[in-house]
Amino acid sequence: MNVLVTGGAGYIGSHAVKRLHGDGHRVVVIDNLVRGHRAAVPDGVTFVELDLRQTEAVTDVLREHGVECVMHFAALAYVGESVEQPLRYYDNNVGGSMSLLRAIDAAGVKRMVFSSTCATYGEPAPEHMPMNESLPQQPINPYGWSKLMTERALIDYAVATPDFAFVAHRYFNVAGSAADGSIGEDHRPETHLIPILLQAALGQREHVTVFGDDYPTPDGTCIRDYIHVEDLIDAHVVAMDALNDTGTTGGDSGGGGRFFNLGIGRGYSVREVIDAAKRVTGVDFAVKDGARRAGDPPQLFADPSKIKRELGWSATYTDIESMIETAWKWFQAHPKGYVDDA
Ligand code: UDP
Repeated sequence: MNVLVTGGAGYIGSHAVKRLHGDGHRVVVIDNLVRGHRAAVPDGVTFVELDLRQTEAVTDVLREHGVECVMHFAALAYVGESVEQPLRYYDNNVGGSMSLLRAIDAAGVKRMVFSSTCATYGEPAPEHMPMNESLPQQPINPYGWSKLMTERALIDYAVATPDFAFVAHRYFNVAGSAADGSIGEDHRPETHLIPILLQAALGQREHVTVFGDDYPTPDGTCIRDYIHVEDLIDAHVVAMDALNDTGTTGGDSGGGGRFFNLGIGRGYSVREVIDAAKRVTGVDFAVKDGARRAGDPPQLFADPSKIKRELGWSATYTDIESMIETAWKWFQAHPKGYVDDA
């Protein structure tokens, strides 16, 4: 198939490009390189440096490449930054998605897989764990709202456009790297737990800080559901295939839209992730207890049974150590990340 991957130079998008390209699809990437890395896109994949808000240019790309399905990853994705710069987040994430949809409409593309987030649920009470797709969506930050607004626009567009169908995947915590170590996580600045632990193991950080040890969880630290990036991408490919097979039938929302929570279905505490990273790396890096980080819910983990039931997908990496092993391979081979802008 001819597939457009937006944000294909980013951490998650580049893993989608690698998989789709490897499967023999014709892939075109649009990325504005604000957060992505040109070196993350392999040779042989068409790369267009473009901001999604350039509607006419995006329409031209869709037409020129005969795009049949769009995988839409491009977004700014730092929760804290979204609180400080809400307009930038709404403009980029919602504005970019609206422009992309207008281009999709103009070019007549019928399929889309959208990168959404468990942040659209906000802070569900502990009795709602594990989290299923019917929980109320009450984001607590502009990042979560920007994704929820895009979900809403997709629903309404699909209702108004009977031959358009989409899947929105709501991600939990994405972790790990391609098993061959060729691409990986390189966020600047880095805020995510596992890369920070691996940077500490490499001696690039003097210590790691645990953000809060007085949460109402068994060891007092926050619990998250970590899903391996290759499993996550596999769920996108499965969704794309399902859209091709069933088109607009079986939607959750009156039109051809379906929503899935993507996690492994169990949580690991910050302390457990730290211990696993020490075992994998063999480095006993320094750990300090610090204050809570604003906006961190005590626990978030998925009920992934809907996607298993409806699309037959489940994660193959189910323990945190094996996920960290793949990330460690990337960090050891690329201690400074991508060299294009290191
Ligand atoms: N965390 C931490 N120290 C760090 C970075 C993260 O204790 O240096 C915690 C964070 O508070 C959260 C968990 O690790 O409970 C996962 O954070 P991350 O930023 O990786 O993902 P998030 O859950 O915010 O999407």
